[in-house]
Amino acid sequence: MHIMVTNDDGINAPGILALSSALRELGEVTVVAPDRERSAAGHSMTLHSPLRVFELRPGFYAVDGTPTDCVNMGIHSLLPLRPDLVVSGINHGPNLGDDITYSGTVAAAMEATLMGIPAIAVSLATSDYDGHFPEAAAVAVRVARQVMANGLPADTFLNVNVPDCSSAEMRLPLITRQGKRSFVGKIVDKIDPRGRKYFWIGSEEPDFNDLEGTDFHAVNRRHVSITPLHLDLTNYESMKVLAGWSV
Ligand code: MN
Repeated sequence: MHIMVTNDDGINAPGILALSSALRELGEVTVVAPDRERSAAGHSMTLHSPLRVFELRPGFYAVDGTPTDCVNMGIHSLLPLRPDLVVSGINHGPNLGDDITYSGTVAAAMEATLMGIPAIAVSLATSDYDGHFPEAAAVAVRVARQVMANGLPADTFLNVNVPDCSSAEMRLPLITRQGKRSFVGKIVDKIDPRGRKYFWIGSEEPDFNDLEGTDFHAVNRRHVSITPLHLDLTNYESMKVLAGWSV
């Protein structure tokens, strides 16, 4: 089995190192990841400038692009064979609810899904750089094993969020739905050393509606959260409503 690993925190992040070494248990691992942190890059792709690749050591490629660029580079150029699985992470911080639309970690798994390759995004709900990454990597291995044994439903990938605790404190995985943020963060404005105004988005901790069955609710209670996602954003119920419009 050949696994491609990527992330949005950069190739030297603790999460990708823990993930890539743990997945070696399942097969051959190739890492293709951004050369620096590209968190909140979403599904962006570099189309108007060239990309450079640096092989840091065998099987470790750094790309000066986004997570989506890395998946494209890995699958269409760097890997000798099409991988059996793409795993993205382990993100430093959760990817829950509406926030997944900003996530480069989740977008990398989306890109692999578009190419018809099974994909998993893994995030650790921590703000600590010495969070429980090895424990989260062990969870990723278990989920990857299930994906390989059972396959995934068509057009579906998994968004896995792991609570930041020891394996003993961790509770059973729950299959969850995507939750909702309960408010949008403020923009802070300050004055720079040259007397000009600058602005900073997203300075507050996100807050979510703590509804049972959601990703947030599960992780908040030390469960591993596994949300099956798909790329079809169509609101099917609304199609019926809009069918009554005279456009
Ligand atoms: Mn990140």
